[in-house]
Amino acid sequence: MFSPKLLAVTSLILASFGLTSAGAVGQKQSQVSEKYGASTLFLQPWNAGRDANEPAFHSQKLDANTFVIRQSLKTSFEAPFLYLIFGQEKVLLIDTGAGGVDLRRVVDDHIEAWLAQNQREAIQLVVMHSHGHGDHVGGDASFKDRPDTVVVGHSPKDIAGFFGIENWPAQTASFDLGGRSVDIIPTPGHHPSHVMVFDAVTKALFSGDVIYPGRLYFQCGLSETYTKSMSRVAEFTRENDVRWLLGGHVEMKAVAGEAFASENGSRRGEHILELPVAIVSDIQMALTAMGDKPRVKSYGEFILFPHPADPRGKQPPNWCLN
Ligand SMILES: [Zn+2]
Repeated sequence: MFSPKLLAVTSLILASFGLTSAGAVGQKQSQVSEKYGASTLFLQPWNAGRDANEPAFHSQKLDANTFVIRQSLKTSFEAPFLYLIFGQEKVLLIDTGAGGVDLRRVVDDHIEAWLAQNQREAIQLVVMHSHGHGDHVGGDASFKDRPDTVVVGHSPKDIAGFFGIENWPAQTASFDLGGRSVDIIPTPGHHPSHVMVFDAVTKALFSGDVIYPGRLYFQCGLSETYTKSMSRVAEFTRENDVRWLLGGHVEMKAVAGEAFASENGSRRGEHILELPVAIVSDIQMALTAMGDKPRVKSYGEFILFPHPADPRGKQPPNWCLN
């Protein structure tokens, strides 16, 4: 998700806008979401704000060297997902959440436990971001003074410079964590510096806010940029063994085409976090159907959400057109 300005408008839309899916693509995806009702990746359902004493973070592992951390809905309506990936030389943290909570301690605890398990003394922490929106960089400050830590900047220039990407956004870079490399895929459209990260070990593509079970936001005028990024992701998934897409949030319900309102601090019946790789072609089909007339439209596992730079005084779904 992203801007407070849009938040108010979004809540209004969810109340008034029919979020049922329609048309062939929507029908097809309804079946997909029913099929993926239960997670095969995670042992527990994610905390979703139903327990008043819910801890600020909920961690689950993908494997012994890969962790997924969700910031509690009780601390931010965005409830972002963060990813911690250990190599032998470096550990990579993707995103620092919405802030206001002690993420540093959770990350330090994970690192300490990993070092003990692996009989190691130290490992360098690299903090990077899927993109520069506040709910993904909010915890950066607590890492700035951490020893043996690099915090990568948020601009396309910072990211291209750090990962050695000369031809942004067309070029994909590889980043070596020591015995394990991840791919960095520039995917602007939702935000100028958006990147996805692919981990060949878990076959997971950490897809940020460009692909997740929720509202896929991009400015009306940037639909081409977003569509081009989607084409590059599609090409990447054809050339690499991508099994799952794990994004920055969950906003959909398990019921096809329905989303939670942003102010829901407690949710029942959330869609699972992971999406199958087929979601990429589903989104491509939806973008093709949208053509050069961007409009808000709900599909089974996502809502295409083009929006004016300043949505005030305008009404979706056709607010890009006037
Ligand atoms: Zn976000």
